[in-house]
Amino acid sequence: MLLISCPNCGPRDETEFHYGGQAHIAYPENPNDLSDREWAEYLFYRENTKGTFAERWVHSTGCRQWFNMLRDTVSYEIHSIYAMGQPRPDITASSPKAAPEKPGEFTQSGAYGQAGEPGLAPGTATAPTTSEGV
Ligand SMILES: [Zn+2]
Repeated sequence: MLLISCPNCGPRDETEFHYGGQAHIAYPENPNDLSDREWAEYLFYRENTKGTFAERWVHSTGCRQWFNMLRDTVSYEIHSIYAMGQPRPDITASSPKAAPEKPGEFTQSGAYGQAGEPGLAPGTATAPTTSEGV
């Protein structure tokens, strides 16, 4: 179970939130100029990053506000939570295992409840990574 720090309400249980997909997907400037394929890619094609990923979340049973989160899709570590419209924070300067800003916001015991999800089984971290990186 993740403990997610809502920017408005503070730390709350993961069950109060809904995932909103990849963050920073800009609406096309001239949608009428796009081919069907380009439009379909805008609508449906998203990155499937293994590692640090920028995503949108909404505090659906709380303040009902959207925000962005930088989260590791392997370890579930939350690197950063920031407002919609803000650029993705650069976390490359810090170690990937850097502690959360506020201790106790995220616990490793969270992985316990997600073991059944695909790609999260122990040992998958040793699988080869793509050449794209993050
Ligand atoms: Zn909230």
